[in-house]
Amino acid sequence: MSKGPVLVWFRDDLRLSDHPALVAALASDCPVIPVYIFDEQSPGFRSMGGASRWWLHYALDSLDQSLRDKGSRLRILRGAAMPCITDLIKHYQAQGVYWSRRYGAAEMAVDASIKAWCKDNSIACESFNGSLLVEPWMVTTQAGQPMKVFTPFWKSARANNTFAQPLPAPQNVTSTNGPASPHELALADLNLLPTNPDWAKGFSSFWSVGEAGAQQRLLDFLSDGLKGYGEDRNRPDRNNVSRLAPYLRFGNISPRQVWHVAINRMETGECPASERDLTVFQSELGWREFSYHLLFHNPSLATKNYQARFDAFPWRQDQAALVAWQKGRTGYPIVDAGMRQLWQTGWMHNRVRMVVASFLIKHLLTDWRDGEAWFWDTLLDADPASNAASWQWVAGSGADAAPYFRIFNPVLQGERFDPKGDYIRQFVPELARLPKEFINKPWTAPEWVLRDAVITLGTDYPHPLIDHKIGRDRALAAFSAINNA
Ligand SMILES: Cc1cc2nc3c(=O)[nH]c(=O)nc-3n(C[C@H](O)[C@H](O)[C@H](O)COP(=O)(O)OP(=O)(O)OC[C@H]3O[C@@H](n4cnc5c(N)ncnc54)[C@H](O)[C@@H]3O)c2cc1C
Repeated sequence: MSKGPVLVWFRDDLRLSDHPALVAALASDCPVIPVYIFDEQSPGFRSMGGASRWWLHYALDSLDQSLRDKGSRLRILRGAAMPCITDLIKHYQAQGVYWSRRYGAAEMAVDASIKAWCKDNSIACESFNGSLLVEPWMVTTQAGQPMKVFTPFWKSARANNTFAQPLPAPQNVTSTNGPASPHELALADLNLLPTNPDWAKGFSSFWSVGEAGAQQRLLDFLSDGLKGYGEDRNRPDRNNVSRLAPYLRFGNISPRQVWHVAINRMETGECPASERDLTVFQSELGWREFSYHLLFHNPSLATKNYQARFDAFPWRQDQAALVAWQKGRTGYPIVDAGMRQLWQTGWMHNRVRMVVASFLIKHLLTDWRDGEAWFWDTLLDADPASNAASWQWVAGSGADAAPYFRIFNPVLQGERFDPKGDYIRQFVPELARLPKEFINKPWTAPEWVLRDAVITLGTDYPHPLIDHKIGRDRALAAFSAINNA
């Protein structure tokens, strides 16, 4: 008698290579049914932001194409995962379901209930690590507690674990020819792409979404960007960061692949970077791991201050200031360049993310959750762990966070990390003609310089929303109020 099929349920692992769940499903010698469920209905699930939905559309399309090349295809459903999976199991008389683990509380609750249902119904159910170098429970303090500080976390993660070598993509994916489940949809039925207006239309020129695009991005970065990463990762005007974040977020590439391919290319001389460049890059991957560690142990990371003393923080409610920040109209060119890069490309350079977040939280005294929500909607790499952990890091409310009195001066940050103003010129074109001495502080330029650069402040480009010193003093006062409370 022929064996019934097994489901491979794709989630944040939209690729075929280094996919332990897919490999295990194929090893069962059963036909494999690849499935994706667009789930906004399970209790506690956070809806994806607009930019993430855009990425998801193309990532699913690309995964489906790769599966078709291997003799299969992706089944797409929409709804709460529990009824979708159990319906599929019944419809196909499947005898197993395989997936890569997730680490958010709501997602884990769904997975646990499906696992329990499978057990009760004698269906095999197996889960694997498809998204992390170290799963959150693999690193603890000596007393067995969760880690709260990055450096010992990363030291322990590296010392006590070897990160497995990535698995190759399967040659074929043997599928089943049975009639489709009545709940299956076409990708277009998910309506993931924006229309009317299509605010994401520019994204396609910056990104090649999917597994092949991820592999290419990694190789390009290793041959051309990692060299100098140790220092120049801070320079938004240079090309020394990987831009792999959205691929990692959706699992178009795994961190194990990034890790091992980087080491291999260094060894073969195909990557001309220094050991230091590699170590710094690896530790940035480590921050992603640490963020997942924090999320796993603090399920409300995106909504609740990690440090409860911040609950008493006197945030201001200034909708106009929030909108000016979102639109890149704060009057601080480096902040505005970052916010416009985000809007135009779906991504922002890490140094500038820190500057814009610090400006929103500290100069504008806006609750970090408002910034987190905007990034959630507009970042292609909006990640439940890294976004929340990073916003809390900047606010000072997080684990191992930046101290509250670290308030970036947006002028000095711009002058230091975009010294010629090239980055600002690209994203704030109305300032493009300003000489570099003034490009980070146009309000200090003499009248004739502004006239030569064809700028009228307050018309073509705004005056600063708030004076840096006034903003800084106000923030320090607010932060010391909660410290002394
Ligand atoms: C306010 C704020 C919000 C952020 N939100 C997100 C988010 O939603 N999703 C996200 O992936 N990163 C987030 N980051 C972290 C970081 O800015 C991005 O990971 C990085 O800029 C992505 O660009 P890259 O792929 O070129 O990074 P690279 O410098 O090439 O780093 C390689 C990879 O390491 C990981 N990484 C690097 N820095 C960090 C970090 N500080 N924290 C966690 N992981 C890191 C990412 O997966 C990244 O792709 C945020 C940072 C700040 C300050």
